[in-house]
Amino acid sequence: MRHIAIIGSGPAGYYTAEAAQKKYGDDVQVDIIDRLPVPFGLIRTGVAPDHQSIKAVSRRYEKTALNENVRFVGNVTVGEDISITELQERYDAVVLATGAPHDRVLDIPGSDLNGVIGSAAFVGWYNGHPDFKDLNPPLDAKTVAIIGNGNVALDVARILSKTPDEFVGSDIVGHALDALRKSQVEQVIFLGRRGPHQIAMTPKELGELMHLERAKPVVDAADFPDEGDDAMLEPGMRKSVTHLREFYRQAEALQEKPVTIDFDFFAMPVEIKGDGHVQKIVVEKTELDRDLRSTGTGETYEVDCQLLVTCIGYRTPPIEGVPYEHGRGRFANDQGRILPGLYCVGWAKRGPSGTIGTNKPDGFAVIDTIDEDIGEGSRKEGRPSLDALLAERQVQPVTFRDWKKIEEAEIAQAREGAPREKFVEIGDMIAAQKS
Ligand code: NAP
Repeated sequence: MRHIAIIGSGPAGYYTAEAAQKKYGDDVQVDIIDRLPVPFGLIRTGVAPDHQSIKAVSRRYEKTALNENVRFVGNVTVGEDISITELQERYDAVVLATGAPHDRVLDIPGSDLNGVIGSAAFVGWYNGHPDFKDLNPPLDAKTVAIIGNGNVALDVARILSKTPDEFVGSDIVGHALDALRKSQVEQVIFLGRRGPHQIAMTPKELGELMHLERAKPVVDAADFPDEGDDAMLEPGMRKSVTHLREFYRQAEALQEKPVTIDFDFFAMPVEIKGDGHVQKIVVEKTELDRDLRSTGTGETYEVDCQLLVTCIGYRTPPIEGVPYEHGRGRFANDQGRILPGLYCVGWAKRGPSGTIGTNKPDGFAVIDTIDEDIGEGSRKEGRPSLDALLAERQVQPVTFRDWKKIEEAEIAQAREGAPREKFVEIGDMIAAQKS
């Protein structure tokens, strides 16, 4: 028998469990430990609430979760309730599938002003992550600046621009929907430090901007290279750039929509100004060097805004004693190996890139690596020993069956047309599974 503990119940965690289950059948016991009483990590609290088709992948994780040899151990915080060393004493392999929940830091003067919010907090707020339920972003802002040209920036802009009716069928949490109903936002501005050919926005997501009820994307045709140059782009990127070009071609048709989503390219924020609260961003115009990196031109201008959301990527928080690559914000690893018996997978291994599906090969690969290292397994005790330690410490784990009760209660309390209304307080989640 092999005993594997996975820390983190997001996509990377569940694909790893699925891989272990497929490889070993009944000869493995997998415990997926999560600090929240609810599973699925980014699927629940990262993927945009109006992208329900992406969230549907959790059904696949549920199939894995319903196997006897895979357990969800929610409401257990590694580092507080139990240490990594204690897990390593009990399991043949401990896999960190902790994702990258912290924002990459925007290191410019003024980034600590009120109204400057990282995407982890903003996305967590509209998705009902308990850590960010009280964020209360200033949506009386008329102009919101978003730093970054990636898919998270797109999610944030779309959520800020939609009408309440456009959230029908989504699982955006009630507090966010109420706040957005009262929102005064008239303009969203993407500040991208490079150009249209260097965006990290994928075509499907970018194309959605054309179909918003009250908002229109606005680009400046002068920012674009010759159209013939698009042929050199890889196909996905070419499609994205085609959408961007469509934005200026359709400008007249979209004119009536009152909310604008402006793309400022070659725009590098260098300072945030404000009297306690963000009022302006100083932006330096950039150009690309030979390696297509952005370099400042020395020319600056100011953008007024009352809310600034940084969407510049994420990092995995370091854990004491676990080797870490500070530059890339992930654990130092060789094909998922960190230290003997300790592994990582997903964003904790690769850094924050790729789609949900990218985690699948990652999960299967780390199980192959583990297999090379642990063979038939050892005499470690696994589950019973974890349960005994948690009981001794009076920690009450939440099981997958408990989660199904929480889920049932969330479905029961959904507003009309919504798939669920999430609990945003851990206490309410715990209470729901006991009732
Ligand atoms: P991302 O794709 O890495 O984009 C980050 C953006 O921030 C880039 O435009 C980057 O510009 C910019 N940036 C980084 N540091 C900056 C700085 N100091 N100043 C100004 N700009 C800076 O990250 P993300 O948007 O957080 O997305 C993370 C991953 O999740 C991606 O793989 C993404 O595709 C995925 N995701 C997918 C979906 C979806 O499929 N629907 C939704 C959300 C997220 P440079 O290019 O110049 O570095």
